[in-house]
Amino acid sequence: MTTDTQKQIEEKWQNYWEKEKIYSFDQKSKKKIYSIDTPPPTVSGEMHMGHACSYSQQDFIARYKRMKGFNVFYPFGTDDNGLPTERLVEKNKGVKAKEMSRDKFIELCLDFLKEKLPTFSQDWKNIGISCDWDLKYSTINEHSRKISQWSFLDLHKKGRVYRKDAPAMWCPNCQTGVAQIEVKDKEFDSTFNDIIFTVGKEKLTIATTRPELLPACVALVFNPADKRYKKYLGKKAIVPLYNFEVPIIEDSRVKEDKGTGIVMCCTFGDQTDMEWQKAYNLPIKIAINEEGKMTEVAGKYAGMPIKGARKNILNDLKAENLLINQKPIRHAVNVHERCDTEIEFIKSKQWFVKYLDLKDEMLKWGNELKWYPEYMKHRYDNWVKGLQWDWLISNQRYFGVAFPVWYCNKCDTPILAKESDLPVEPIKNKAPVDSCPNCKSKDIIPEKDVLNTWFTSSMTPQIAIQLIKDKKIQNSLFPMSLRPQAHEIISFWLFNTIVKSRLHFNKNPWKESIISGFVTLGGEKMSKSKGNTIRPQEVIEKYGADAIRYWASSSKLGEDVEYQESDVVAGKKFTTKLTNATNFLFQGLVYQEKQPHLEETDRLLLTQLNKVIRNSTESLEEYNYAQAKLQTDSFFFKTFADNYLEIVKGRVYNGTKEEKASAHYTLYQSLLAIVKLMAPFTPFITEEVYQTHFKKYEKNKSIHLESWPTQIKIKENKEDQKIWDKLLEKIKDDRQKKSENKKSMKAQIKRKMPKEDIILLKDVIKDYQSVSGAIIVEVGPDSIEFVEP
Ligand SMILES: [Zn+2]
Ligand SMILES: [Zn+2]
Repeated sequence: MTTDTQKQIEEKWQNYWEKEKIYSFDQKSKKKIYSIDTPPPTVSGEMHMGHACSYSQQDFIARYKRMKGFNVFYPFGTDDNGLPTERLVEKNKGVKAKEMSRDKFIELCLDFLKEKLPTFSQDWKNIGISCDWDLKYSTINEHSRKISQWSFLDLHKKGRVYRKDAPAMWCPNCQTGVAQIEVKDKEFDSTFNDIIFTVGKEKLTIATTRPELLPACVALVFNPADKRYKKYLGKKAIVPLYNFEVPIIEDSRVKEDKGTGIVMCCTFGDQTDMEWQKAYNLPIKIAINEEGKMTEVAGKYAGMPIKGARKNILNDLKAENLLINQKPIRHAVNVHERCDTEIEFIKSKQWFVKYLDLKDEMLKWGNELKWYPEYMKHRYDNWVKGLQWDWLISNQRYFGVAFPVWYCNKCDTPILAKESDLPVEPIKNKAPVDSCPNCKSKDIIPEKDVLNTWFTSSMTPQIAIQLIKDKKIQNSLFPMSLRPQAHEIISFWLFNTIVKSRLHFNKNPWKESIISGFVTLGGEKMSKSKGNTIRPQEVIEKYGADAIRYWASSSKLGEDVEYQESDVVAGKKFTTKLTNATNFLFQGLVYQEKQPHLEETDRLLLTQLNKVIRNSTESLEEYNYAQAKLQTDSFFFKTFADNYLEIVKGRVYNGTKEEKASAHYTLYQSLLAIVKLMAPFTPFITEEVYQTHFKKYEKNKSIHLESWPTQIKIKENKEDQKIWDKLLEKIKDDRQKKSENKKSMKAQIKRKMPKEDIILLKDVIKDYQSVSGAIIVEVGPDSIEFVEP
């Protein structure tokens, strides 16, 4: 009997799996391939509960498919370029990226990652993820940079990337352009300020939440249907504090019932302002710069940050009696999803992927993918329908994959890297030509921006597949079988990966996708910023990884999972019970190589087991791991442990040789099947049990290389379920009556039951009598009578 603690057990098998390469993708195998486009976790502090949950869920599938006989391709990557790493390095090393040379900063980031990655990945090993650790990538390593830059060159060749100097969404905090996917809505408290403009001698009240944009005001706009303002059409209004004139125009995009129904149009205030600027050929007055500070246009407020300027302008308006009313409101504002800073529009030179013309195609691509759960496709569709911008891919940041681009400093012609030179670092490497192909100038400068991190992450299928050097295997790996991922990044990651794959190869990158939900605590998403997190590392320390995985398997795919310690405790209870049950049963068990003649009760138990195997397999084929686990779990605790073991006990100790053989065979086969059915969910304890008791007969290196259980060959009859249910019903009845009468469960009874029940139970009556202590069974209305020994 083993005395190892769960923690020792988990360490032991994790080392064994790694050493024996149990999860290796076999390049020589003729088996069918099942490939997983594993999400590369962002290298931040450490694995959080959301990770622990969603990676466990995808691992259930990987392990199931492996046991089903597939050659599973399951790589592991880390996402380590871009802003999160910059932030982490700045915090950890006490530096500021923009205050040091870019070279130095990148070096610092790379060093930091080298230190950090082994411990970071260890968390994933601890939770029992069955990735092939020889198939590893990082999104900033040479391999990934090469593929990301190739993607840029290929899209350029196909006319799908362009560079444009135009207003684009901008985060003044991160000081970079941001793509539509990186913008989210956030509710803020704000105020509607009623500000007085003048038209001739009349006063005109404008309600605005952004008075700091007064200096950028270029028009006042009202709805053509709004009779209140018709008389001002074509007239000029005077802007308060600044005293310059702006035209009053009409446009149906103004909402009559919002504020005063007449609004300021300011340069790059929001998207509608930009549309008006173009439609009515309004002047451009830029009041906010890239750092989120007021420009010269703002006069005495120049140099102030946006919020400071807002406060000062309001004070000044108040002092001049130009602010007549303030009303608090709560409204949704566009913010940068990484830092929650309000988005501004800034005119700058940026690279874009042209794809707005493909919206209809995009919807078709989404239809070609098989979604689990199906309703998640709506999120994709809604995202596509709401697309308003081409994909902005340049970031004015430091640590990322470089654009493989240089420019002529005279005429701005872009000069692209040669494919054979990739990956390149234009700030270090020379351009492939000495002079500009357009104007012959020798003044060539590097692109300093970096590719947005999603531009690289959207290539993970290629990054993963190309870890295998054999071209033939590469081809057989694409499209991949599965993309598992969280619902919150459908628009970021799933969508962009499809777009890239279609633009490059005209094919979807995978056949199926499973989408996981959030982990919640008290109904709210667990998150560091809310301070409602629980560290999975601590839970593993206390209860073991199997117990967390057991909890993670209890939620339906796509749905949020509430973290409850009681569920983890239930997982721990399962591992203990499985260990104890197998240790106990194997003590006297004689292995039966061939199926002996089966006692009727044993045959009935095996029909129940066959049903669990069937249902559990069907559920897993549909990625319904929760249902699969529930079925096995309930079979183990209720059918097997609570009932069958009690029924068969008497026969195991006192039966004939044949009766014993039948029981031993049934016990062994059902336990083996339970261990196999639970192996994807609780990989450590099932390995322990397998190695301790089953390996010497089954002869596989690991339970995880075992085949998935199939139906045990027995005769099944129509009445089986009815007999089995009746048997359990009578046993339950007897137990209840004994407990009501405060009698021992072993108490002997005289049992009466209706004739038809006796007929139904005739083949199992001996086992029934043994478990219930029914020394006499007679025809009569259901009742029991205690018999003193
Ligand atoms: Zn930001
Ligand atoms: Zn030139």
